[in-house]
Amino acid sequence: MPSETSFFGDVNRYFERAAALLNYPRGLLDQIRHCNSVYFMQFPIRKPRGGYEVISAWRVEHSQHRLPTKGGIRYSKAVDQDEVMALAALMTYKCAIVDAPFGGGKGGVKISVPKYSMEQLEAITRRYTAELVRKNFIGPGVDVPAPDYGTGEREMAWMADTYATFNPGQIDAAACVTGKPISQGGIRGRREATGLGVFYGIREALRHTTLMKRAGLSPGLDGKTVAVQGLGNVGYYASDFLTKDGCRLVAVAEREGTIVDPKGMKLDEIMEFRKETGSILGFPGAQSFEDPSAVLEQECDILVPAALERQITRENVGRIQAKVVAEAANGPTTYNAADVLFERERIVIPDLYLNAGGVTVSYFEWIKNLSHVRFGRMDKRFQEASSTHMVQALEELTGKSLGPAARARVIHGASEEDIVYSGLEETMSTAFNEIAEAMLTDDRIDTMRTAAFMIAIGKVARSYLELGVFP
Ligand code: NAD
Repeated sequence: MPSETSFFGDVNRYFERAAALLNYPRGLLDQIRHCNSVYFMQFPIRKPRGGYEVISAWRVEHSQHRLPTKGGIRYSKAVDQDEVMALAALMTYKCAIVDAPFGGGKGGVKISVPKYSMEQLEAITRRYTAELVRKNFIGPGVDVPAPDYGTGEREMAWMADTYATFNPGQIDAAACVTGKPISQGGIRGRREATGLGVFYGIREALRHTTLMKRAGLSPGLDGKTVAVQGLGNVGYYASDFLTKDGCRLVAVAEREGTIVDPKGMKLDEIMEFRKETGSILGFPGAQSFEDPSAVLEQECDILVPAALERQITRENVGRIQAKVVAEAANGPTTYNAADVLFERERIVIPDLYLNAGGVTVSYFEWIKNLSHVRFGRMDKRFQEASSTHMVQALEELTGKSLGPAARARVIHGASEEDIVYSGLEETMSTAFNEIAEAMLTDDRIDTMRTAAFMIAIGKVARSYLELGVFP
């Protein structure tokens, strides 16, 4: 078996596998594949007991075929340039798959979050943003960051505020970053968007009779067993929606280790237990393992890696028992391991589709910021009044009346959250059908990942051709 390449190397190998089935000129494919701009910066921050520490950080704009570029900011001590380039490239393909009109970008700050106070994290975030402003790597029409591993609403609020300080009077300044708190121009539904999108994507795959036949599973989520690696933003909400729809959470991992209970565990009890004790280990009724990667090898129907990249490798892939691997994290399966999963007839729902819910709802937030109006504000009451008239007319015609619960359901006008949830569900379902149809109608396409890359490359290539860059 060939040796494992780097993360960006793997993304490019997936790209080439799909590109080989398409008929685009080599130059165009190279233009799509390479990272357009890489900005590496270093800046000092003051240490609490005197002296300075120099922080390394990156922002990568992989493709500017559509503007702005879009992608999260990661805070982790493992961040390096290869990782940020790989994640930026995945953003280009992800945006194309869900028709979010952005190029791909990504940022990374090489820090271990728990080592810093909140004041230091604020100083780092504001300085990082200032460096992005200085080089025109941030702005509503240029490059729009979002949360990723190690960052959340708090960091996005600091970024938005810093950007606005450097751009006084810019009316669209709030659209310079997404994933903000609601009070700072965020949108309802963004916090859970990636996990909810993961849920919609898994639900679509599990409904698909041909795919489930291949996996040897009965269709539907009800009663399926799930193992989840990482209970952060993505893993927590994905687990929450899956268990509310009938799945059984049989294994969970966090940094400190893995807990397993084939009878199923309650997510909120695990979260409460970890809050109280500082660890998931020792959770009542469950078996505890100090190895966080033990979760990957547990018996389950669906494995959801939702922590970091390169978790399923050629070393452990032979021990994966799950029938479906749902890539909630970016790049959790190495290229070589993905081949083995295919040979073992496992269904892999690929990252570039499955975790696109975050950028989809970020797109809605960006539109909200640019239009300066909350979704539902203009038409909710009007919809409710029209539905009320309709119900009254029907009641008069039939001589019967709807009960209060049914009446409330029928006349309910769409709120911002309703619109976001329905837009996300529509997006994930449409994209899934496009990928599944491509895979099942073209014998040359082996996996959902190859199908997803082919669709993404096709969309990016067409937009380069429309721009007239490649006549
Ligand atoms: P997060 O920081 O909120 O959560 C990550 C969690 O993983 C943390 O709770 C951390 O303690 C845990 N973790 C770290 N190492 C672990 C290990 N070895 N085993 C088990 N758990 C471990 O990050 P997130 O935003 O949930 O991102 C997770 C993944 O999803 C990343 O790959 C990210 O790129 C991807 N993603 C995130 C978003 C988003 O909107 N946040 C969107 C798309 C993709």
